[in-house]
Amino acid sequence: MSEQNERRPAANFETVSIRTQTERSLHREHSAPMFLTSSFVFNNAEQARALFAEEEEGLVYSRYGNPNVDEFVQKLCLLEGCEDGIATATGMAAVFAGLAALLSTGDHLVASRAIFGSTHAVLTTVLNRWGIEHTYVDPADNEQWRRAITPRTRMLFVETPSNPGLALVDLEYLGRLAAERDLILNVDNCFATPYLQTPTSWGAQLVTHSATKFIDGQGRVLGGAVLGPAELIGKVRSFARATGPAISAFNAWLLSKSLETLAVRMERHCANALALARHLQQHPKISEVRYPFLESHPQRELAQKQMRLGGGLVTCEVQGGREGGMRFLDGLQMISRSSNLGDTRSIATHPATTTHSKLTEEERRAVAITPGLVRISVGLETISDIMADVDRALEQV
Ligand SMILES: *Cc1c(COP(=O)(O)O)cnc(C)c1O
Repeated sequence: MSEQNERRPAANFETVSIRTQTERSLHREHSAPMFLTSSFVFNNAEQARALFAEEEEGLVYSRYGNPNVDEFVQKLCLLEGCEDGIATATGMAAVFAGLAALLSTGDHLVASRAIFGSTHAVLTTVLNRWGIEHTYVDPADNEQWRRAITPRTRMLFVETPSNPGLALVDLEYLGRLAAERDLILNVDNCFATPYLQTPTSWGAQLVTHSATKFIDGQGRVLGGAVLGPAELIGKVRSFARATGPAISAFNAWLLSKSLETLAVRMERHCANALALARHLQQHPKISEVRYPFLESHPQRELAQKQMRLGGGLVTCEVQGGREGGMRFLDGLQMISRSSNLGDTRSIATHPATTTHSKLTEEERRAVAITPGLVRISVGLETISDIMADVDRALEQV
């Protein structure tokens, strides 16, 4: 069942992300144009017949495929080391398509407890009504993953690093576990992006993305993708063709352009994030700083094994609990108060009162969200300006 991807992630990341381009048109354009067309014409009736009979590959209708969408997907497949993929209008459409196309009534999945809020909602309010059950486990506890597997388990669903706790899942361990038990390992790689981490290198079959975050990287558009072996993606594609979560050509065009600069952007996001994490560690009003590549992170060794750099997110515990966290947010003058992440602009979030406010105090504790926890998505502004804004805000705490 668990077909493997035959490809390896491209080693020449920058070249592939820049030079993978849809065929030039008659105009010999240098940069790929946008194909804003809902449908494509057939040269003759025989071609129409062959395309519909799937004897010939080609463009028919933009819900099925479009040159801009295909270029975006092809690049992502090369960067992630996947054979095939589909792009979707949002990250959640990608998460949902991957789950709904491959799981059936009676199936079970094991998921990390520290999972994106809307993914949690899909598991608990949609899939459970269809008789697809799940078990949550502590992402960092390998034994819990193993023990949660039942004879009905079909998939392991993972986010690493987790949001906002920045706990890591041991991808090599889960890759082996999935192969041993014939399960699909599905990794939501949104936080790391293929530049920092390629789950297929550790045996993951499916890679799911919200392209809305670091892949776009400029807070402009929504998008998502599911990538994997041709056989599994065939099922996801059939599901998506029928149910219609297609991404627009415009968004796919933007996202494909964004991939051209992903490597250089991630380098700077990570450098700024590490510098900010070190700076925060020195501050008397901060009691704990979490960042995967910090010496103090309990899984630093694992982070350095499976990630190229530590990522663009830093979390810290501000003195004064809930009030302290909220005062810190109000004291910021440059850094945006927003719930998004993965933007050129730095963004601060207070999870306990916003993104994770619907959880009970106890549920928040289980995923390491303390009342004073603040998450910073570190942007690409000058690092001294980011530090100065944080220091100013901490004076208000
Ligand atoms: C944002 C996010 C999603 C959902 O993506 P949308 O594009 O907002 O639908 C899924 N997973 C993770 C980890 C995310 O951060």
